[in-house]
Amino acid sequence: MTDLSALQAALAPIAAGRATTRLEGARASIILDVTGLPPAVREVLEADVRAAALALPGIEEVRVAQTSERVGRRLIAVASGKGGVGKSTVAANLAIALSRSGRQVGLIDADIYGPSQPKLMGVEGTRAQARDKQLLPVDTPYGVPLLSMGQLVAPGQAIAWRGPMAAGALSQLADADWGLSDTLVVDLPPGTGDVQLTMIQKHKPAGAVIVSTPQDLALIDATRAIDLFAKADVPVIGLVENMSGYVCPHCGEASEPFGMGGAEAAAAKLGIPFLGRIPLAMAVRQASDAGTPPAAGNGPEAAAFHEIAAQVGHWLDRRQG
Ligand code: ADP
Repeated sequence: MTDLSALQAALAPIAAGRATTRLEGARASIILDVTGLPPAVREVLEADVRAAALALPGIEEVRVAQTSERVGRRLIAVASGKGGVGKSTVAANLAIALSRSGRQVGLIDADIYGPSQPKLMGVEGTRAQARDKQLLPVDTPYGVPLLSMGQLVAPGQAIAWRGPMAAGALSQLADADWGLSDTLVVDLPPGTGDVQLTMIQKHKPAGAVIVSTPQDLALIDATRAIDLFAKADVPVIGLVENMSGYVCPHCGEASEPFGMGGAEAAAAKLGIPFLGRIPLAMAVRQASDAGTPPAAGNGPEAAAFHEIAAQVGHWLDRRQG
C-alpha cells in the first residue's frame, strides 16, 4: 500500500514543488500549481502526475486540479503624437531588448489603426487561440509572446472604434493568459485623442515611452502625447529620438534628413529624461520588413535599442514596490 509520503516521493521528480497532495484511502487528490507554464506543458504535467500516482499500489482514483497565481505585471506604454515616426519599431525592439536583459516580457499591439507587430515580430498570419474564454498570446521567434489587435480582426480591416470599444478590446489583450510575463510593452495607437486617453485611464500603465523624430512638427505632437499621460497621471519614462541622422550606406557621409538632437533639446525643455536616439538606417527598415527586429541581432542598430532598454529597465527597477 502507498502512504502519503510515498505518493509525494513519487510525484517529486515530475512536479518539483508544484504538487500539493492528499490521500484518502484509495483516492489521491492533487493540486497542481501551473503558474507560468504554457498550456501544452500544463496538460502534459497533469497527465504525467496522474499516471505516476495511478501506478502506485493501492491507488485507484486520482483527482487533479490545476491552479495558477496571477503574476503582478506592469504595462509600459509606447506612444507617439503622430503615425509613421517608428513607434511600433521602437515598441518591438524595446520588448526584445528588455527580454534579452533577463525580464519576462510580453508585447501588446494595441494600435487599432495599423496593427503591425505580427509582421515586425515574424508571426504574420498566425491567429491567436483562446482557452476558457481567455486569449493565449502567440509565441514569437524572439522569446516575447505577442497579442495584437491584428489577430482579433481580419487583415486589412480598418477599425473605426470609439474610445470605450477600443479600451474593451485592449482589456482582452491585457487580461490574456500572459503566464510569467511581468512586463508588458504596449504599442498604443498614434495620436492623442479619446481612444488613447480611455485606454490609458482604464489600464494605467506604470510608465510611458514617447517616440518622436527630431523634426519640430513631430516634437509638437510628442508634447501633446506627454500632456496626455500627465492628464492620466502616468509618469513619462522618457523620450526616444528615432530616425535621427542618416549615414549613407554607400559613401559613409552623415546627413540629417529630419535634423538631429531636436528631441533631446525638447526633452530637456519639458523636464523629461532623454532615452537615446536611433539612426535612420536602411538596415532598420529592412529588418523590420523581414520580421527580424534589429534588437534580436548584433548589428550597430541593436546597440541603440539595448541602451534605451537598459534605461527603461533601470527606471522599472527604481519603481519596484
Ligand atoms: P509608427 O508605429 O510610428 O507608425 P513604424 O514603426 O511602423 O511607425 O515605422 C514606420 C516606417 O518607418 C516603417 O517602414 C519602419 O520600418 C520605418 N522605420 C522606423 N524606424 C526606422 C529607422 N530608425 N530607420 C529606418 N526606417 C525606420
